[in-house]
Amino acid sequence: MKLILLGPPGAGKGTQAKRLEDKFGIVQISTGDMLRAEVAAGSPVGKEAKAVMEAGQLVSDDILVRMLANRLAQPDAAPGFILDGFPRTVPQAQALDLMLEKMGLKLDAVIELQVDDAALVDRIAGRFTCAKCGTGYHDSFKPTAVSGVCDTCGATAFVRRADDNRETVVARLEAYHRQTAPIIPHYAAAGILRTVDGMADIDDVTAQLNAVLAE
Ligand code: AMP
Repeated sequence: MKLILLGPPGAGKGTQAKRLEDKFGIVQISTGDMLRAEVAAGSPVGKEAKAVMEAGQLVSDDILVRMLANRLAQPDAAPGFILDGFPRTVPQAQALDLMLEKMGLKLDAVIELQVDDAALVDRIAGRFTCAKCGTGYHDSFKPTAVSGVCDTCGATAFVRRADDNRETVVARLEAYHRQTAPIIPHYAAAGILRTVDGMADIDDVTAQLNAVLAE
């Protein structure tokens, strides 16, 4: 199964990608996670990307296309993958088409998570994750059961993304509408675009995704 999850920041792509990963035994490929790892490692790519990410802008297509080509060539991507955060521009979508064609692969579906912009700022601004196991939480919508302790692994250290603040979210949403939304007609024309209601609760979105993928 080869999928793309599309949607603005905070739409729930990462959460749903993790669930699809477990259900279908395929890997989540999050270009945002890959870039954050580069930033944390202080690599040349990370140094170039850091300020751009903190401003809520998009990192250059060249970097992203190279990064994704390398990632898709890894053996764990062979059974299938869920792209989370890529492509984000028309040139990235075109480069992905070429890459997949060269590899003899075809996308099964591109799923758009539709959400209201107004809900996204609140969703994103309260996000945090366990520093040890990566379980995601939210100050208002999904707090830990015991304050300061991860429900999953019991760790007590948490992290918040540098770009998950109100000012940056507005820039990220703007980048989505201006640069990413234009790729939607590309996949609609290819007949592989599916849409789900990302405003529903998490389990309901998962059920919708499963239904769409079973069609
Ligand atoms: P995400 O975790 O998907 O929200 O990505 C966090 C940030 O990483 C974005 O706001 C961009 O600055 C950068 N980024 C991630 N994926 C891409 C991409 N495909 N193209 C350009 N920039 C990206």
